[in-house]
Amino acid sequence: MNKSALHDIRTFLTPYNTTLIAVTKTHPVEVLQQAYSSGLRIFGENKVQELISKAEVLPKDIQWHLIGHLQSNKVKYIAPFIYMIHSVDSFKLLQEINKEAKKNKRVIACLLQVYIANEDTKFGLDTQELTNLLLHPELEQLENIQIQGLMGMATNTNDQEQVRKEFRYLKNLFKSLAETIEKKNVAWKEISMGMTSDYRLAVEEGSTMVRIGSAIFGNR
Ligand SMILES: *Cc1c(COP(=O)(O)O)cnc(C)c1O
Repeated sequence: MNKSALHDIRTFLTPYNTTLIAVTKTHPVEVLQQAYSSGLRIFGENKVQELISKAEVLPKDIQWHLIGHLQSNKVKYIAPFIYMIHSVDSFKLLQEINKEAKKNKRVIACLLQVYIANEDTKFGLDTQELTNLLLHPELEQLENIQIQGLMGMATNTNDQEQVRKEFRYLKNLFKSLAETIEKKNVAWKEISMGMTSDYRLAVEEGSTMVRIGSAIFGNR
């Protein structure tokens, strides 16, 4: 773990009040323990099984964020404790999260993942699907989820202007939705964007949560 990189990231984020999600995927529990000792309490994982096995053995005051694609049949495993799911990409998944959250007498925070990149490999909703989901007639019946905002991943490119454009697009989308969509279980608070290669740009463009792995924990 690179403590001086962590220090630099924290120093950069402080004036913006941006939440740092330490992305610990593929790293062993010992690395997470070290991160915990450095004061980190917000961890992001992209696979359900890995997240569960780490959560079982680590302190209970950690806030766990699922940042990777989620299949409906796996929601039940994380519903008892997950803090936020960043990768919601269908109404059906939202219904399943709601059902399992209800069984656990919880409200689970969710972000809608939006497709902003200029490549085929990234998951997420397009603008039309996003609007349809938010205007779904049964959305407000889901009392055990709260949609707190949007998540996006920019194109993996050195072209800074391209990346900035994509982040700006997500921010503008967030703003227009926040102005037009008012629902009981929607609270427009968070824009989860920015990773190791582009978090500075993302924060400048209005990110409220960055998901950073390799800058802190090294290459995977
Ligand atoms: C792995 C991952 C990250 C972190 O990536 P780094 O480049 O290591 O910072 C962020 N978001 C998602 C969705 C990821 O899967």
